[in-house]
Amino acid sequence: MSDPVQPLIEVKNLKTWFPIRTGVFSRVTAHVKAVDGVSFQLGRKETLGLVGESGCGKTTVGRSILKLVDPTEGSVRFDGQDVLASEGADLRRLRKRMQIIFQDPYGSLNPRMTVGSILSEGPRIHQMGNDSEIRKMTEYLMDRCGLDAVNHINRYPHEFSGGQRQRIGIARALSVEPEFIVCDEAVSALDVSIQAQIINLLLDLQDEFGLSYLFIAHDLAVVEHISDRVAVMYLGKIVEEASSDDLYSDPRHPYTKALLSAVPEIRPGQRKDRIRLEGDVPSPIDPPPGCTFHTRCPSAGSRCRTETPRGFDVGEAHRSHCWLEDAGGVEGEALQA
Ligand code: SF4
Repeated sequence: MSDPVQPLIEVKNLKTWFPIRTGVFSRVTAHVKAVDGVSFQLGRKETLGLVGESGCGKTTVGRSILKLVDPTEGSVRFDGQDVLASEGADLRRLRKRMQIIFQDPYGSLNPRMTVGSILSEGPRIHQMGNDSEIRKMTEYLMDRCGLDAVNHINRYPHEFSGGQRQRIGIARALSVEPEFIVCDEAVSALDVSIQAQIINLLLDLQDEFGLSYLFIAHDLAVVEHISDRVAVMYLGKIVEEASSDDLYSDPRHPYTKALLSAVPEIRPGQRKDRIRLEGDVPSPIDPPPGCTFHTRCPSAGSRCRTETPRGFDVGEAHRSHCWLEDAGGVEGEALQA
């Protein structure tokens, strides 16, 4: 039986490194450190927004939690169960409770199957009812997701618009009655007005089915409305985490400030000067020493180039990994000398 106090998801020091092989003998000569020591918790019916530039490792975090890729180190617990140690039937049972919605639902929808067949496939595999029960559930989910079952159940994915296909992706995730869904850039490819409709649908479904979401996006404006808490990632690490309110009203990490400054008027009266970051994101194969953001950070000091900043509590459940929060500041060693 589920413990209502225990977090639904507990991720500790998660590392997912992909080996790079070269030469005739395919020797491992380096690693892409896609996720490099990520920890967080997610409560029941809670939404954590995971934000960062493309290539920062946020998608790999989502896939690692579902064990769609094999993490190198760390632990993931779902409702107290060790996900990374689960295999076979245990893992299948877990996967029914943990689903994913992709950025491009079209790529993940079988073009030769009707929507009705796509949505009933999971319930059939998991033996969730007889044919007529599954049909009823499929029709309910289609209507609930705004797809009008009567007219659309026998249609094929190519007959739908991008927004409708995302609704099919959502209905398919819901068809196996999950408790947790990774929304991986689920609205990023959609027009702004459709984005808002899909986010409102996800909020309604969260209320109705008691869902928890890990909502992955590269744009802070997109996650604000849906997230209870937000974690900002840079080069495989979480650099700041806070409640949605705190993060948007009092960002502390220079990277979060830069991302927020790029969002046009996120809240009335909060327009800030755009902070332009110099240079490109460094390679995750050979990340910079010290604070990995120091090569682009406008506030970097000598300490940032050699010492990895630890996390500092800067408010209630608000944590920033930056030497600016330390008494020694970004020139810590010089001050202490
Ligand atoms: Fe910038 Fe230094 Fe803070 Fe890193 S630790 S974000 S380089 S000020």
